[in-house]
Amino acid sequence: MTTQTHIATGLAKIGLFLRAESWRQADAAALSPTQAQILAHLTQRGPARITALAEALGVTQPTASDAAGALVRKGHVARHADPDDARASLLHPTPSGRRAAAETAVWPDALLGAIDTLDPGERAVFLKALVKMIRELQVRGAIPVQRMCATCRFFQPNVHDDPAAPHHCTFVDAAFGDASLRLDCGEHEPAGKIEADALRRSFLGAPVGQADVPPAATGEAS
Ligand code: SF4
Repeated sequence: MTTQTHIATGLAKIGLFLRAESWRQADAAALSPTQAQILAHLTQRGPARITALAEALGVTQPTASDAAGALVRKGHVARHADPDDARASLLHPTPSGRRAAAETAVWPDALLGAIDTLDPGERAVFLKALVKMIRELQVRGAIPVQRMCATCRFFQPNVHDDPAAPHHCTFVDAAFGDASLRLDCGEHEPAGKIEADALRRSFLGAPVGQADVPPAATGEAS
């Protein structure tokens, strides 16, 4: 086995644990994992159309539609007309949906405890490696666009001399380090394709000349 396959095996083991935990939490709240993900998305990001939900969760539109229909029947979600398009509807979480989302959005203690065993330096290195892998999966069209610093128009990497906080977020106008890189930021706005490709090469070290996928597959603005 190579180091690559050792890493893939380790990620698969953590993935198995997380999948089992998400099933357990969703089951306790009488939800399917997709229903729990939809509730989490609606409570964190606000009302959304089915198409946007399917794209954000990386599932097909019929799967998102079935799960949303079940949530409507359970009273966790309500459909309201989209003020931007009278023919479309937006899904809104109800108070019971918000309570169910809170029950299923808790990170397992076992996982948090395992992360706690890493020292601050190890966490920063691990987080940046995760950002790089997630970005590459996105570029290869394997996962939907992620609302992370590495694809954000507000992100300015390595612009400060302080090695503990070399990056800058122009949205909050503050410096920060690798340990604070965001993977799911509510304020994220996609960088244009040229800027996103430049970020990928300069900040994440993607090989020059590696094929970039078209904006439609990455979700990036052109
Ligand atoms: S807005 Fe969020 S994602 Fe964008 S650079 Fe700032 S912290 Fe990162």
